[in-house]
Amino acid sequence: MRVVDLIRRKRDSGELTREEIQELIAAYTRGDFPDYQMSAWLMAVVLRGMSRAEIAALTAAMLHSGQVLDFSDLPAHKVDKHSTGGVGDKTSLVIAPIAAAGGLLVPMISGRGLGHSGGTLDKLESIAGFNVNLSLDEFRRVLSVCGCALIGQTAEIAPADKKIYALRDVTGTVESPALICASIMSKKLAEGIDALVLDVKTGSGAFMKTVEDAAHLAELMVETGREMGKKVVALLTDMSQPLGRTAGNAMEVAESLDVLSGGGPADLRELCLELSGWMFFLGEREKSVAAGKQLAAKLIASGAAREKFREVVRLQGGDVRMVDDPRKLPCARQSVDVVSPCGGFVAAIQCEQLGTACVVLGGGREKKEDAIDPAVGIEFHKRAGDGVVRGEPLCTLHYNANARLAEARALAETAYRIEPQPPEDLPKLVQRVIGA
Ligand code: URA
Repeated sequence: MRVVDLIRRKRDSGELTREEIQELIAAYTRGDFPDYQMSAWLMAVVLRGMSRAEIAALTAAMLHSGQVLDFSDLPAHKVDKHSTGGVGDKTSLVIAPIAAAGGLLVPMISGRGLGHSGGTLDKLESIAGFNVNLSLDEFRRVLSVCGCALIGQTAEIAPADKKIYALRDVTGTVESPALICASIMSKKLAEGIDALVLDVKTGSGAFMKTVEDAAHLAELMVETGREMGKKVVALLTDMSQPLGRTAGNAMEVAESLDVLSGGGPADLRELCLELSGWMFFLGEREKSVAAGKQLAAKLIASGAAREKFREVVRLQGGDVRMVDDPRKLPCARQSVDVVSPCGGFVAAIQCEQLGTACVVLGGGREKKEDAIDPAVGIEFHKRAGDGVVRGEPLCTLHYNANARLAEARALAETAYRIEPQPPEDLPKLVQRVIGA
């Protein structure tokens, strides 16, 4: 195999065989050819796309670049959920303990922030001591004791994705349905799960901005998962504005605890119930999604879901005092309001810009080696459709360093479009379910 020939063929819209894709991924994972050649091939894929057969081959090659976990000896359905990424999306922190409290096993392998979107691992690490780098033996132990465990990708699980994901983040090659599908599904299929609920985001804060693109990605992932013998559904959900009231790692943990305690913002709570309802249904714990949602609501009301979160934090080395009293979570020293320049209604929100503002404050990475400040973030006061008077806060930036505050502030100020009239119709939270 000559890598340059495969780059050229993809550049010219040609198709690669299963064997060629397999060899390309295996050779890159071994380190047999350099990042610049892989970047060129990835960019050709972004621009030219891949056939269904190529996507299936890429997913399989990435999946088998490492171990496929086997939890078949653990006597419960193994179900996970995965989101394609957005701003303020903290549902994993709520859903994993709900599903575990309801008797499912949730072996969750999550990611870090990617581009403007936040990552579950970064949020969990704002709880002092929380270890997302468990060995596979420890992962299995926590899962069997508690019913859920949340870790990052290890060297053993889909190592090809680990390497390619980091490269895509810094080479402008994230936004490809084929690459996103192979990246997500290779990790998820390696988890040894029976069923998977996908949350495919659409709108200005998502990687797929239109419902059509999101539906296409959702179909690819559902088809790929089913070909591998898994039950999979995908919910297309709104990301035209942040989910919930906060973006920023520690702030999102606190908000997740609000939902687990029976409160929290309505959109976040609703989406968590919907996704858990599907998990209970696919995991054969309930006969319908509606019954699954009811079970999830009961597990929140009884305190069982919050107790499960506390248990997983304890088992993964986290400081449970931060769970018992979220005021002990890291907290930024300073804050500044971003106010509306005029009266009217919030007509639209440039949600990606708000995600980028959070990254600029230090809540995410711009380079692989950047350290995250867990305390910083944004608190959102106004949602699309809300009325606002001149000078009223739209959001509040919480920060520790002045260096890039002006940049973050400019991003947040220009993210809101205020109009004299309210918007005619706003996107529904759950827009469509694919594969139901
Ligand atoms: N999440 C992933 O795991 N991979 C992608 O490519 C995008 C979002």
